Amino acid sequence: MSDLRETLFNEPKNGYDRITVDERVECERYCRSYMDFLDRARTEREAVSLTVELAEARGFVPYAPGMPLRAGDRVYSVNRGKSILLAVIGRQPLSEGAVIEGAHVDNPRLDLKPRPLYEQDELAYLKTHYYGGIKKYQWLAIPLELHGVVLLKNGESVEITIGREKDEPRFVITDLLPHLAQEQVKKPMSEAVTGEGLTILIGSAPYDDEGSDRVKLAVLSVLNDLYGMTESDFLSAELSAVPAYDVCEIGLDRSMIGGYGHDDRVCAFAELWALFELDVPERTCVCLLSDKEEVGSEGVTGMQSAAFDAFMEDLCASQGVALRRCFEKSVCVSADVTTAYDPLYPEVYDKRNIAKLNYGVGVCKYTGARGKYNTSDASAELVGWLRRTLDGAGVVWQLAEIGKVDQGGGGTIARFMATRNIDTIDAGVPVLSMHAPFEIVSKLDCYMTYRAMLAAYTAKG
Ligand code: MN
Ligand code: MN
Repeated sequence: MSDLRETLFNEPKNGYDRITVDERVECERYCRSYMDFLDRARTEREAVSLTVELAEARGFVPYAPGMPLRAGDRVYSVNRGKSILLAVIGRQPLSEGAVIEGAHVDNPRLDLKPRPLYEQDELAYLKTHYYGGIKKYQWLAIPLELHGVVLLKNGESVEITIGREKDEPRFVITDLLPHLAQEQVKKPMSEAVTGEGLTILIGSAPYDDEGSDRVKLAVLSVLNDLYGMTESDFLSAELSAVPAYDVCEIGLDRSMIGGYGHDDRVCAFAELWALFELDVPERTCVCLLSDKEEVGSEGVTGMQSAAFDAFMEDLCASQGVALRRCFEKSVCVSADVTTAYDPLYPEVYDKRNIAKLNYGVGVCKYTGARGKYNTSDASAELVGWLRRTLDGAGVVWQLAEIGKVDQGGGGTIARFMATRNIDTIDAGVPVLSMHAPFEIVSKLDCYMTYRAMLAAYTAKG
């Protein structure tokens, strides 16, 4: 009787009951590399430059259109410093399609406004405009760092990073003390903290002279000393405040990783690490790390941009292959994080169709909301292919939806890949506290996502 259940039922098992001691050792090693990556890459620009550094150390060279390509060649192309495409050329021509894995390296954060700096009651502040989906109250009373780039009046580009090193100052958005918050705490969460309220405290000591705005003047004089910038240079800057939290292990058993920006660097790193493992793959393998996913994949560095097609078209041209022939035979794993079931909030999930921590990489047939709106909905055939691929490689995986029907929803780059006539499916790491300044993932799921990415790159078509 129990044999029949074993045969006929689909009963997911905890990943820890399925992996070997050797896999646990490998998992620890992999996660240490990932934690180091996450600590060093706080913005999309930093993720891209770190990726270039790692890739060049592994034999990848910048791709130039017209360059002859042989099987096993490793090339990359950076799009405006914010997204990157890497490829390992396969034995088969691109007319047989490529295996594309796509993640994003932008995160929810607080961008500075073009005219951010002002002084109010002898304190200096920076105004922000938040980027991506955030719960605003989570950004109060936590330490923040500043990252970004400023184009000075003379055209010189200056990179700014303040607060990442231990001895550097950090910044904060203040919150009201509970003693005086009687009215504030009665407001709905969505109204208690406003977008305009996300204003960063940046200084309090006045400049030693007569006149107005002496604290603002003191702040500007520091920025001028450090970076040669003046107030008008904020106009041509991209500066972001991000949480100043170090990546760390979570739990007495050290089974989880806490940090800012798992969504989606945890999948970006998985596909990158898998790409690095390849020698001479059957089909050409492409790793794309995109920008602007959190705001709808818009813009010249998002997945709706033609930059991806231009890169692929160049690769195809070098083999005399039409891009559309390549796309129609390609497959794309959209590697993005998914929701993990949180037992503290059971009411928003369908327990039978939600990813659980430690049950492995989460495969999402569809995302979207309100009746599968805005999803590409992978076909049964494609899910079947991925399922056979993962099972064949011994990967611990699970199938997942975002939450209960009509509870809410979200999207990934998947639909923008699918509209290019590329078969696309979502798969990624389940996350707790997604989009919070401090997100949680399980080490086992991180490792299994890397294994899944490797399996997909080396899968039979
Ligand atoms: Mn994401
Ligand atoms: Mn996201």
